[in-house]
Amino acid sequence: MHFDTLALRATHQPDPTTGAVVSPIHLSTTFARNEANELPANYIYARPNNPTRESLEKAIAALEGGAVGMAFGSGQAAAMTLFQALRPGDHVLLSADAYYGTPALLEQVFHPWGLTYTRVNMNDLDAVESSLHENTRIVWCETPSNPMLSITDLLTVSRLAHEAGAICVCDNTWATPVLQRPIDFNVDVVMHSTTKYFSGHSDVLGGALVFKQDNEFTQRVRLLQGLSGAVPSPFDCWLVSRGIKTLGVRVRAQSLTAQAIAEFLDGHPSVERVHYPGLANHPDRALIQQQMNGPGAMLSVQVNGDATDALQFISRLKLITRATSLGGVESLIEHRASVEGINSTTPKNLLRLSVGLEHADDLIADLAQALR
Ligand SMILES: *Cc1c(COP(=O)(O)O)cnc(C)c1O
Repeated sequence: MHFDTLALRATHQPDPTTGAVVSPIHLSTTFARNEANELPANYIYARPNNPTRESLEKAIAALEGGAVGMAFGSGQAAAMTLFQALRPGDHVLLSADAYYGTPALLEQVFHPWGLTYTRVNMNDLDAVESSLHENTRIVWCETPSNPMLSITDLLTVSRLAHEAGAICVCDNTWATPVLQRPIDFNVDVVMHSTTKYFSGHSDVLGGALVFKQDNEFTQRVRLLQGLSGAVPSPFDCWLVSRGIKTLGVRVRAQSLTAQAIAEFLDGHPSVERVHYPGLANHPDRALIQQQMNGPGAMLSVQVNGDATDALQFISRLKLITRATSLGGVESLIEHRASVEGINSTTPKNLLRLSVGLEHADDLIADLAQALR
């Protein structure tokens, strides 16, 4: 079945009791027992499980081709619950170019708790191999990376992880399963901030994990999800499920516009460099063809000059909104170095652009007048 059909089939189930074409939102926190003290379905209490969350979890697992899906209150809650399933003394190998919140969690929360971690350039496979230790439990990739759009070879990194007795996790937030299914490349766990493309409308926080297999580790994370309770509300789950219905069309349309913008910016006299998987000069071209169905709707641009020039450029934008986050229907631009703070290694003249659903000509006209 094609992605779009799967997305509809997974989120559109007419309600058998009322015939409602759109699934209801089950707000109930508790579920009644019959005279024999039996539960009519598998639900007891909403934190460990509830019908609205369960239907979202099944949909995300189906889209990623995994055995089990779990929904969380944010992307960070999903990452946190995964790290909680490790034990003090375990080691995590993390991509040097990961979303800044992931190393922040490891440094601020899990390092004091007893996890160790190393950051490595995931494109340097020799460095990956030599950074794997006996106690390495997780190899964490993010591809395309944030904000440099570099590509990790998922098939090779997951093989290296497995040879060292670790599992491979991939943050697939930027690519979405429309463009990349890490489980097809032997990744064990796919992580998402569903705040971004899954919901698609910048109006709900959410996170998800999809597990290739239902094994002991998966069940431990399931236990922690219910026990620690970093879970989304039924209404939030319903919003993410609604977003999934249009995920395919949104991501493809936004990618086409991003391609046009990247081509406009590439070679513009005020631009130093464009980072975008759809450009022929991207250094990881072969990998992109191997593991992605399209270049996506995120791009980064380094303008001529320094931080001041970059900030002046975006101050002149009239259509594109200056804001953090990504994956919504409205285009957003951000000076990453300002957001990431003093430890940031992001070039000071870099702007990250999340391309929305506005017409490409209008977005290009806005960028052109601001770059003048
Ligand atoms: C936003 C984001 C996260 C964190 O997700 P939240 O929903 O904000 O907690 C993690 N990884 C990537 C790639 C992101 O873009």
